[in-house]
Amino acid sequence: MSEIKIPLDWPNLGQLEREYILRALDSGYVSSAGPLVGEFEKRFAAYLGVAHAVAVVNGTAGLHLALKLLGIGPGDEVIVPALTFIATVNPVIYTGARPVVVDVDPHTWNIDPAEIEKAITKHTRAIIPVHLYGNPADMDAILGLARKYGLYVIEDATEALGATYKGKKVGTFGRIGVFSFNGNKIITTGGGGMLVTEDPQLAHRARILVNQGREPGETEYEHQEIGFNYRLTNLQAALGLAQLERLPEFLAIKRRNAALYRRKLQGVSGISWQRELSGAEGNWWLFSILIDAEKYGESREAFMDRLGGCGVQIRPLFRPIHLQPCYRHYPFPICPVAEDLYAKGINLPSSSFLTEDDVITVCNHLFYR
Ligand SMILES: *Cc1c(COP(=O)(O)O)cnc(C)c1O
Repeated sequence: MSEIKIPLDWPNLGQLEREYILRALDSGYVSSAGPLVGEFEKRFAAYLGVAHAVAVVNGTAGLHLALKLLGIGPGDEVIVPALTFIATVNPVIYTGARPVVVDVDPHTWNIDPAEIEKAITKHTRAIIPVHLYGNPADMDAILGLARKYGLYVIEDATEALGATYKGKKVGTFGRIGVFSFNGNKIITTGGGGMLVTEDPQLAHRARILVNQGREPGETEYEHQEIGFNYRLTNLQAALGLAQLERLPEFLAIKRRNAALYRRKLQGVSGISWQRELSGAEGNWWLFSILIDAEKYGESREAFMDRLGGCGVQIRPLFRPIHLQPCYRHYPFPICPVAEDLYAKGINLPSSSFLTEDDVITVCNHLFYR
């Protein structure tokens, strides 16, 4: 690959981030004990309109914590989509529970509610829907199944900050929602995450578990339970506060650029993209397409080489969970929809500082093959 001219998912950092970080440094607080962690939690909860937000060291830890809080462990089954980043599934393994992989919908690319229902057994405890690439999953159907069978919903909203479903922000539908602030997500703290819930008891216990099992404010090294060191630091929270202030700007650019991609690419034979459900508005974290090689006249591999050679940074979709070498000994079913999407799918440049000209440049490479 040549020098990257149009990046896929690089962070958008500027003066405001610099100011917040310097303020944190000057205050002398760099660790989790600093005041900005609580401030970030408060503002994040207010943005989502949710009662409680607990900052965590990353999204993976947030998902692990969510499962722990709900008492999920050995003997339990947790339903996950086949097409997702591996960090949706690994935390289920960490708890000793069994992930149950189900196929996705060919249009939204999100977990298929009909497949969820087929996979429910007497051991099922929870469903983890993922709002893939920021596109809201079918929450009405998923919550309906959860009610019908008495299951928890943990939303993996790590990619979907700012996306809405029927006017309500995703991550606030489940018993617990989890966000990520990894370097490539819509806002970043370098690494970091947030667990959100309406339940004060879950939030309180989350604060104990992230801090080695200690009550907040406890000073005598008394540990109520065996916890984790999953806290975010003050420096990270400083970055998060700056990024959260700029989130509306990032969302507007992501949505504008995704709309421009769709307008430009409609009518190009062999190219299609992820669909939003009616009532859903994605954050378009990564605008992604499917290439039907026969209709388009070029294979996905040739396409990737060609664009990479022009400095356009692109990437295949996540490798489906049931095709992961690390899960080869797990009895996961074949998921044909996820496999088909994986065979055809590509993430296009979506950084929140890309201009309309950048998007048009990418589209021109797609027209003139
Ligand atoms: C990023 C991501 C995670 C994990 O978040 P980290 O902060 O990187 O640990 C989990 N699930 C999905 C779908 C993700 O994209």
